[in-house]
Amino acid sequence: MMREKQTECLCCGICCQKGGPALHGQDLALVRGGQLPLGDLITIRRGELAYNPLSDRIEPVLAELVKIRGTGQDWCCCYYDPASKGCSIYGSRPVACGVLKCWQPEETLALVGQDLLRRLDILEEGDLLRPLVQEHERLCSCPDMRAVEKNLIDPTENVLRSLETQVNTDLAFRDRMVREFNLSLTEELFLFGRPLFQLLQPFGVAVSESPQGLRLTIRKKNSPPPTGGRVRVGGAFAR
Ligand code: SF4
Ligand code: SF4
Repeated sequence: MMREKQTECLCCGICCQKGGPALHGQDLALVRGGQLPLGDLITIRRGELAYNPLSDRIEPVLAELVKIRGTGQDWCCCYYDPASKGCSIYGSRPVACGVLKCWQPEETLALVGQDLLRRLDILEEGDLLRPLVQEHERLCSCPDMRAVEKNLIDPTENVLRSLETQVNTDLAFRDRMVREFNLSLTEELFLFGRPLFQLLQPFGVAVSESPQGLRLTIRKKNSPPPTGGRVRVGGAFAR
């Protein structure tokens, strides 16, 4: 039986459950106006792997983007209300949500990668947090995670120890900034993106704490990632 062609939104909420949108220039007024607080945003840094709708592939991000964060461990948009299957900020939703028509994606595809908001567009000149973002990028820029993934297929000890140094530099910086500026975990994820050790875990890297800092090892094939207890997410701890 042939299915009827979709011509309007069915309000199923699947697009919102797949993840919040990236922000564009037009959305800056929403951030500055407080409808989209910094704690509800997360930065995806250049080099991180993300789905590219234009190529339909997971690829390293070529330019930083800021998007609405997910809920807990999930990418489902934090403004999605499962009870009503609706958007809790509908009147103030970002431009990418306003143009989204899953049955007719041309407008959405035309927006991909265009006029993206970056952290330094969002933080005003003179904001004390701007230098933190710049210093973190100088000390701990995100590597090309596709290249890292390849290096981790059969890594030498040098590769692991070098990554371990980068992981611990990143964490030490976050720990210091969280303490000095009393940052929440969500603010940290906007300012510095996700910590490197977290980005490594899908590649079979196991992380354990040692007196010298985090220690990286390669998980044995078929062994699941460690679960339970407190999981270190960034400079802060979260369950
Ligand atoms: S745009 Fe598509 S996926 Fe999103 S709510 Fe409407 S029908 Fe569902
Ligand atoms: S902001 Fe609203 S419309 Fe956009 S993804 Fe989130 S819940 Fe959906």
